[in-house]
Amino acid sequence: MKLLVPVKRVIDFNVKPRVKADGSGVDLANVKMSMNPFDEIAVEEAIRLKEKDVATEIVAVSIGPAKAQETLRTALAMGADRAILIQTDAEVEPLAVAKLLKKVADEEQPGLVVMGKQAIDDDSNQTGQMLAALLGWAQGTFASKVEVEGDHVSVTREVDGGLETVKLKLPAIVTTDLRLNEPRYASLPNIMKAKSKPLAQKRPEDYGVDIAPRLATVKVTEPAKRQAGVKVGSVDELIAKIKETGVIA
Ligand code: AMP
Repeated sequence: MKLLVPVKRVIDFNVKPRVKADGSGVDLANVKMSMNPFDEIAVEEAIRLKEKDVATEIVAVSIGPAKAQETLRTALAMGADRAILIQTDAEVEPLAVAKLLKKVADEEQPGLVVMGKQAIDDDSNQTGQMLAALLGWAQGTFASKVEVEGDHVSVTREVDGGLETVKLKLPAIVTTDLRLNEPRYASLPNIMKAKSKPLAQKRPEDYGVDIAPRLATVKVTEPAKRQAGVKVGSVDELIAKIKETGVIA
């Protein structure tokens, strides 16, 4: 079975984002970029399925600028077999990403698509669900456990207040949650080997998909600065302060 793993290049999760002075978005100039953490989990899960002989080939795909090649090389160094870059400098919204991924899925015919539950830059949490709808395939979102059994996959989902297990007929879409696994680091020899693994270069036009934005970002603002704390001398003073600031009546 072939696995398709979409990976997005995003601002590194350790970086504190700076908002551009004109409030039009986040400043990405000279900022460290990395693979979306949920996508690293997806790559790891795909590799584990291959190690269990459930999967035979892992294809990583990214939609983004030329530099997204680095993200794909990371996926290849972790253990993906080949990669596809759909290159564009435009900001691609989840619906357009899902349409492109549908075209790739039509061509590649994977048995399973394993992808992140959300990209940490836009926090949309939409692409997997939209892709499942476009393909007419089953979806298991927020996965904390994935087990392929014959022509089905069991997905344990992290839902409010507990876990839910769903059994999906393959082909299907799985989106990963934080507790699914701990992604491996690529070893130096594997980083070297990844340089010679195949990476196909495409453009959105090659798939006939219109990626024109449907949404306009009105304004991006920094979160409110935290107020400095106040030291109080007694519980009574604390209660008085809380009443004063209106936190409790
Ligand atoms: P989102 O719906 O934007 O929160 O993204 C959910 C998941 O869709 C991500 O974790 C990725 O697996 C995938 N995805 C979103 N955008 C891209 C992209 N530009 N290239 C590859 N995969 C993407």
